Amino acid sequence: MAPNQSARSGQAIGFFDFSNSMQRRHQFAVVDHHLSPWDAHICRALLESEGIPSFLTNEHHITANWQMSLVLGGVRVLVHEQDREAAHQALALRDSGVLEAALMEEQSVDPQTCTQCRSRQFRKEKSWVSIGLAVSVLLSFGVIFPPWKQKRCMSCGLSS
Ligand SMILES: [Zn+2]
Repeated sequence: MAPNQSARSGQAIGFFDFSNSMQRRHQFAVVDHHLSPWDAHICRALLESEGIPSFLTNEHHITANWQMSLVLGGVRVLVHEQDREAAHQALALRDSGVLEAALMEEQSVDPQTCTQCRSRQFRKEKSWVSIGLAVSVLLSFGVIFPPWKQKRCMSCGLSS
């Protein structure tokens, strides 16, 4: 069926219901926002896996010009208003680590451990080399690249 036939017969097309658009507005709620589009896509995929339709805003603008992410408020993850509570519950499970623990148990993935002391506590830090490289790229080309981070074991200090 062609889209215009759907509109005439009063069926919903996409996100909009043309049959009675003045009375049936689709309300959306922002449930999360991310600085990078990739993180927002992971969040959206999580919600979709829980059966919650979700959408992103500002995604393409920030992909093209990621320095604008803070100005635009990041990439926003939207759900239908009626799915807001379910989305918050799914995201709370994500934030509490329950989903990650279940995935590790299901996939029998060993959490990352230090090869020297078997510790599981790491901290991320930026090396002076990466900071220097980021500054030189900024001064040479006017492009901002965030310096990369390396992990350092909090017990023995081994960096990886
Ligand atoms: Zn260690």
